[in-house]
Amino acid sequence: MIAVLGAGIAGLTAGYELIKNGVPGKEIVIFEKEDEIGGLAQTKAYNGFKFDLGPHRWFTRSSEIDQLWNELNSPEILYLERHTRIWYKNRLINYPLSPFNVIKNLGISKSGPALFSYTIQRIKDRFNNASPQNMEEALIRQFGPALYKAFFRDYNQKLWGGEGCRELSPDWVGQRVKNLTLSQAVFDAIGLSKKGSVDSLTDRFKYPVNGCGQLSEKLAQRIKNSGGAIICNAEVKDITLSGKRLTHLVINSGGYVEGYKIDYCISSIPIDNLCRAISPALPSADILPAANGLRYRHMIFVVLFIDAPRITKDQWVYVQDPAISFNRFMDMNSWNPALSPPGMTSLVFEVTCDKRDARWNLSDEEWIKVISEEFVRGFNFIEKRKVIGGNVYRKSHAYPVYTLDYKNRLGIIRDAFRKVENLQLIGRNGLFRYNNMDHSMTTGLIAARNYSGNTHIDTADVGNEFHG
Ligand SMILES: Cc1cc2nc3c(=O)[nH]c(=O)nc-3n(C[C@H](O)[C@H](O)[C@H](O)COP(=O)(O)OP(=O)(O)OC[C@H]3O[C@@H](n4cnc5c(N)ncnc54)[C@H](O)[C@@H]3O)c2cc1C
Repeated sequence: MIAVLGAGIAGLTAGYELIKNGVPGKEIVIFEKEDEIGGLAQTKAYNGFKFDLGPHRWFTRSSEIDQLWNELNSPEILYLERHTRIWYKNRLINYPLSPFNVIKNLGISKSGPALFSYTIQRIKDRFNNASPQNMEEALIRQFGPALYKAFFRDYNQKLWGGEGCRELSPDWVGQRVKNLTLSQAVFDAIGLSKKGSVDSLTDRFKYPVNGCGQLSEKLAQRIKNSGGAIICNAEVKDITLSGKRLTHLVINSGGYVEGYKIDYCISSIPIDNLCRAISPALPSADILPAANGLRYRHMIFVVLFIDAPRITKDQWVYVQDPAISFNRFMDMNSWNPALSPPGMTSLVFEVTCDKRDARWNLSDEEWIKVISEEFVRGFNFIEKRKVIGGNVYRKSHAYPVYTLDYKNRLGIIRDAFRKVENLQLIGRNGLFRYNNMDHSMTTGLIAARNYSGNTHIDTADVGNEFHG
């Protein structure tokens, strides 16, 4: 049996590609600890509302992955223009930042010094070849100290916790933050952006008609139609290592323990949990200390059901104010109004935290109360009576955290795993990579092809896509 651990997009893509490459469906079993598939990219349904857990737009540079996505989702695809803003001092400012919207929204007195400090920073950087040492340095290099302080410092503090940007690796900035360049802004403003450039492409994106979870539903349908099995409520607890091979796994299914003999394993579960599940432990004295030091941010999604057609034209709005609990909210009607009952919408609020944070254990009722009050009072978009209900969902391991030492830790773990002959790592947490759906799909695809002998690529070497 080929055991695929985790039924997120990476695990499902691996299962689907194995079947396409000729592995009989009956030999593939996907184990998922939750009661439903989709992992971090799920669409939930409640009382006639459908909503995603966090904004998920589809964009990729890979034509092959895009083709696969189209093949799975067609014809149920929408094409959307990106509208996203930052809630800054009680007003909405376009994001990604451009010099024009900084001037328009901050006014000349504040934006003048900010753009001046940005320009001085760019000039300084021409003479500075040293790499930034942490995320704060990287963001200041990119935006200058004043814009960093205004738009990035508090937001990242909320998102990542701890000491914020100073204790994080600069890697995240290169991977995720769209540049503010004067020339691009001028081209944008006069409508001369190069068609097909990465920046102009990320301003439009595709979205499945039934929400981002449509992708995993389509993958699962095809796997099941070919005889593959997806077992939910099946948490992988223990994996036996015999010499250089994984031979058995034990799952916990609602208190019942079951064992399976396995020939091969493709894992998308968090890499540190995988380290701890293998017994006897991999023969590397450093592996468990390395794994135990990896950090994640977990996420609480608070959904409010609103008796009003739409709150904002934005698909999502970033909120950096430290006094507000959430970092971002999305308005589902700006994705697809058909996902809500007529004349209504749902708003999805994201709160990141650590599990030892008391907020992780706050009751659902308390969260709905806190977020409704913060939103109604702080934002002035709607009256309280328009909030007709709410739901709360918690997602473990939403963001791998790039601490300053994460690369050393990953190096140790990957070196040890490379010695296991019948294991491949895929996906966001399987590889501990702050990636998007396309990258998760790519790693699943490659792992399946490696198994079938069609490719010989280490999934850890698969490049990441730019998202902005
Ligand atoms: C708020 C938010 C917004 C995002 N926005 C975008 C976006 O706009 N565009 C985009 O492309 N991407 C976006 N992403 C990223 C995208 O969600 C992920 O890249 C993708 O869903 C990861 O899929 P995966 O299969 O690699 O991992 P996961 O979805 O994490 O799947 C892993 C699965 O393994 C299961 N599992 C864990 N432990 C065990 C165990 N012991 N036994 C069995 N099963 C286990 C989990 O329950 C999970 O289902 C966003 C992510 C978040 C959190």
